[in-house]
Amino acid sequence: MAQAPGMLANPFQVAQEQLDIAAKKLNLAPQVHAFLREPMRELHVTIPVRMDSGEVKIFKGFRVQYNDARGPAKGGIRFHPQETIDTVRALAAWMTWKCAVVDIPLGGGKGGVICDPKSMSEGELERLSRGYVNQVGRILGPETDVPAPDVYTTPQIMAWMMDEYSKLVGHTVPGVITGKPLALGGSLGRDDATARGGVHTVRDACKHLGIDPSKATVAIQGYGNAGYFAAKLLPEILGCKVVAVSDSQGGIYNPRGLDSEAVLAHKQRTSSVVGFRGSKPISNADLLELDGDILAPSALEEVITESNAGRMKPKIIAELANGPTTPEADDILYKNGVFVIPDFLCNAGGVTVSYFEWVQNNYGLYWELDEVHRLLDKKMTKAFHDVLGMAQKNKVHMRTAAYMVAVARVAEAMKLRGWV
Ligand code: GLU
Repeated sequence: MAQAPGMLANPFQVAQEQLDIAAKKLNLAPQVHAFLREPMRELHVTIPVRMDSGEVKIFKGFRVQYNDARGPAKGGIRFHPQETIDTVRALAAWMTWKCAVVDIPLGGGKGGVICDPKSMSEGELERLSRGYVNQVGRILGPETDVPAPDVYTTPQIMAWMMDEYSKLVGHTVPGVITGKPLALGGSLGRDDATARGGVHTVRDACKHLGIDPSKATVAIQGYGNAGYFAAKLLPEILGCKVVAVSDSQGGIYNPRGLDSEAVLAHKQRTSSVVGFRGSKPISNADLLELDGDILAPSALEEVITESNAGRMKPKIIAELANGPTTPEADDILYKNGVFVIPDFLCNAGGVTVSYFEWVQNNYGLYWELDEVHRLLDKKMTKAFHDVLGMAQKNKVHMRTAAYMVAVARVAEAMKLRGWV
C-alpha cells in the first residue's frame, strides 16, 4: 500500500497487510484469514474528567480485544494526543501475534485515550485513569482482559487503575492489570523487561550473523522505558557502544559512547536528552540513517518507510517500538541485507514478564529476580529460534516468519475451539 510522500499509512491497514502476506504463505483457510483480519470486540468510551481549573473536560478512550482464542486479551493502554481507534486496533492485533510468538496463554488487546499527558497535572491524570477504568472496567478482568503500561502510562497509573477496578468489584484484584508497582503485586524484572528481552534477541541475531556485539555501535530512537533500558542493558549485557539516542524533542550523538544514567539524569532535569554535555545534536531522521551496526527504533510506529529505508544500512534493526516499519520498507531492508528483528518478537519481553506478573498475582506466590530473568531468556530464545527457523525454511524475512509462527498458533486455537 504505497503512500504519498509525507503521508503516514493507516497502521491498522499496515497490520492487515502484514497478516495477508503471512496468510498467503500459510495457505490459511479464507474464513480463518477473514476472522483474523478484524478485532473480535471493541469498546469506545467517553470519559468526563474534572480538571484542576474546575471545568469538566471530555476525553475519548478505547479498548480493543483483538483475539482471545489463546487466552484472556492482554496489552497496554496508551495515553497519546494522536491516538486513534485504528492505531489501537493495529496495536491490539500486534499484541495477539506477540503473545502467540512467545507462546504465552494470552490473547491480544490494547487500549488508548486521546489526551496530552505532558500537559496534565498528576491529579488530572489520576482522575482520567480512574475514569477510563470506570468506563472500560466492565470488560476487564484477570480472566477476560488484562491491561498494562505503554506509551506515556506508568506503574503509578497501573496502581490507580487496579485500585479503581478493585473498587468496582469490591475486593482487591491485582491480576486485572500488570506493570504495577512492586508494593501492589508488581513483578520483579517488569521494569526493564521489554529492553532485556530485546537484548536477548540481539544477542541471538549477532550469533546467527557472526557479529561480535562488543564491537557493535548502536543508535536508539526514543528514550522512554524501552529506549532508556536498551541504552543501559545493551552495553551492560553485550558490551555494545551506544553512540546516539533521541526523544520527541531531538537526538544526541557521541561517537565515544553515551552514559545511559547520565543521559537519563539530564532528561529528568531538562525533560529532554537534547543538550547533553559532550554530545552533538542530531535529528530523529538523521539518527535513523546513522552509520552503525545496530539500530533500535524504540518510540512510535511508522518511522521506517519506503522514503528512508533505502538509506538505512545497519546490520541489525531491533524493533523495540510497535510498528516502526511499513511493509514497503521491509522489502527494501530485506533486499539490502538488513536483518530486522520484528517488533512483536523483539519487544515481547515486556508482555512475557507481564504474563509472569499475572501468574504470580493469580497464584499468590512471588518469584525471585533471577527466576524471572531465567524464564524470560528461555522464552525469548525459543521464540527467536522458532522465527529464524521459519524464515530459513520458507526463505522469507523475519517479520513474515514471525507472523507465520504466531498466526498458525492462533489459527490452531481457533480451530480447536470450533470457531472456524
Ligand atoms: N505495552 C507493552 C507491549 O506493547 C506491554 C504489554 C503488556 O505487558 O501487556 O508489548
